[in-house]
Parts: sequence; C-alpha cells; structure tokens
Amino acid sequence: MTSSIDIERLLAPRVQDIETSGIRRAWALAADRVDPINLSIGQPDFPVPDALKVAAIAAIENNHNGYTQTNGDPALLASIEKKITNDVGWTFGDESSLSAMVTSGTAGALTLAYLAILAPGDEIIIPDPYFVIYPTLARIAEAKAVFCDTYPNFRMTADRIEPLITSKTKAVLLNSPGNPTGTVLQKDEVEAVAKLCRERGILLITDEIYDEFIFPPTTYTSPATFSEDVLVIRGYSKTYGCTGWRLGYAAGPSRLIDEMSKLQQQTFVCAPAPMQQAAINAYDIDLRPTIERFAKRRDMVIDALGDVTELIVPDGAFYTFPRVPEHLGMTGSEFILKAAEKNVLVIQGNVFSLKDTHFRISFAAQDDRLEEGLAILRSLLA
Ligand code: PMP
Repeated sequence: MTSSIDIERLLAPRVQDIETSGIRRAWALAADRVDPINLSIGQPDFPVPDALKVAAIAAIENNHNGYTQTNGDPALLASIEKKITNDVGWTFGDESSLSAMVTSGTAGALTLAYLAILAPGDEIIIPDPYFVIYPTLARIAEAKAVFCDTYPNFRMTADRIEPLITSKTKAVLLNSPGNPTGTVLQKDEVEAVAKLCRERGILLITDEIYDEFIFPPTTYTSPATFSEDVLVIRGYSKTYGCTGWRLGYAAGPSRLIDEMSKLQQQTFVCAPAPMQQAAINAYDIDLRPTIERFAKRRDMVIDALGDVTELIVPDGAFYTFPRVPEHLGMTGSEFILKAAEKNVLVIQGNVFSLKDTHFRISFAAQDDRLEEGLAILRSLLA
C-alpha cells in the first residue's frame, strides 16, 4: 500500500518556510564525489577523548539509562556551575538568582530560549553572518530575526546593534567565537554589548559553543563577566568531538531557566542520561594540545590564502569565511561548485548570510587533506 494522504495540505507554514539546510545540500554534493577533500564539516576531526568514552560505557553498564531530572543530573550541574563560577564569577545556590540546566545540545538550549521569550511579532537581533539555525528558530517562534550586518570585519559591536533595537526587541544573540567566521570579540567589545542590553532591559543570549577554541595570544571573555542579565549557552559537542551525544547547557536568570525547564519537561524531557554521566569530569581534560593543533591549521589557511583573498584572521573556532575575489565575478554559490569540480567541498556564504559573497572553510580536517584542499582553493582564487 502507498500513502495517499495529502501531506502538503496538512503542513504548517512554519515548516514550509524552512529551507533544508544548505549544509545538507553541500553534503549531497559530497555524495557524488569519490573521496572529496571535505572542508565543509562543522565538527572536530578528532575522536572523543578516551576518558569520556570509558565514562559513557560505564554509565550505560551502571544503569544510568533512565530519565534524569529535567534540569539535568545533579553531579553534572554541579560541574557546570563550578565552571561558570570560575569563568565569569557567577555564584549559584539558594541565595542566587541564577541557575543552570542541561539541554539536548546547544541547539536544544537555543530552541528553549527562543520559545521561552519570543511571541509572534517579537524581534531578536542576530549576527549576519550567522549560524544557520538562528533565523530558522525565529521563524518557528513566529518572531522576526533582525540581522546585524557585521561585514567586512565580522564584529558584532554595540555600535552596530544599537540602531537595530526597537520596542519589540526581546533579545540580542551574540556568537563569539563565531560560526562561520571564527571571529572572537574582545573584552571591551563584549562589555559594551552587555552594558547596552542591560540598560535597555533586553536579554543578551551568548552562544559560547566554541569558547574553548581560542588561539593564543587571543583570550576569551564572556559577556556574563559584566552582567547577570545574560543567558549563557554552551556545549560539549565541539570541545570533546561528541556532536552526536547531544549535550549542552544554559545558565542565566533563574526565572528564565525555570520557564525553559518547563518547556524541556514537555518536549525533549531531558538530555541523554548516560552522556550526562560521561561529561561530569569533562572539564578535567587538558585541551591545550588540541587547541595548538587547530591554531597550526589556522596558520596553514592564512599562509595558503591570505594573499589571494580578503580573509579576516580567525582567532577561534575552526572556520574562516573568505570573500570570493571580485575579479572572479562569482557568487559564493558559484564558487563552491567550481571547488567541488576540483573535489574540494566548502560552503557558500548565503547558507550563513543574506549575502552570497563569501564561503566557509572548516579547518577541522586532517593536516594533509587540509594542505591539499588549500592548494586547490588557492589555484582557484588566484
Ligand atoms: N551554535 C553554533 C554557533 C554552532 O556552530 C553549532 C553547531 N554547528 C551549534 C550551536 C549547535 O551545536 P550542538 O547542538 O551540537 O551543541
């Protein structure tokens, strides 16, 4: 029997408005290629550290396979709170108006945050270029994503945000280090954004999923250092190469965390229990060798492409977002097809932006493949 129901008629505008992620389309391109050099992937190329694997297996064997509390396993929450206290000075506990919750990935935390604060017609200011789900989540909430154009240096500063604020603005979403640009905002820049949002009574959401991927001498400062009116969202996916574990967290004003928790209870229920157990001691792992390796790869990208394209040096994450040189007369979408013909996969700028002038390179790839891919890109860009 085949299905005859008219699903088209049943679908809500909310899904019809959403395009399949351009990243998936790039993957479809990959499917046609034999052993492509894939510089399109937004996940680390290293395996999950052994300590975490062992802890995950032990968690399953020790029967941590049921629901956890909605807000997360108490031991994991304690380690998260300790980390936030160390990083930004917040305190948690009975006397505090701040709390934390474990979520199904950073994407889960972002989803809950959008749904908790945005009603139809409300506005959220997001960077352009942006991580793909930022505008989509606004559409799902029937709210409006207001794009903060950060070209050409990709810095989402208070000066750029302020003119976009209206009486409908509920939140500003900051992403430093940024996907797709690798840009890291400096201390004075995040302080100014935190101050602006606080003065205007707007929630500042800070997506800090790449907070550990910072290349010295750059240092990282969270806007939460300067304000408690901030929702900090972080994850384990990138830091520990465990994107499939679906583990992240949110910390911020308790009143908001309570509402996000209510939503989690009635939707995702909780983050995966064994993975929560596995991550309890994640912050004990020394990430310095990993970061050094990624910093070297960043340098390989600059060496290979710095003189043939306008390229803002990434100080964090594992992406760079160069411009397709004007003399080529091509959009980002046209350029990535040329690259794919030469077996190199990168992603066109309009997946992450209202513009289609740039393309994203992920340098989370093995050194030899990266080197090969960069040489080919160089030959196409020169
Ligand atoms: N935020 C940013 C900026 C990202 O790049 C990603 C993953 N690509 C996410 C959030 C979602 O990560 P996850 O849900 O795996 O934690």
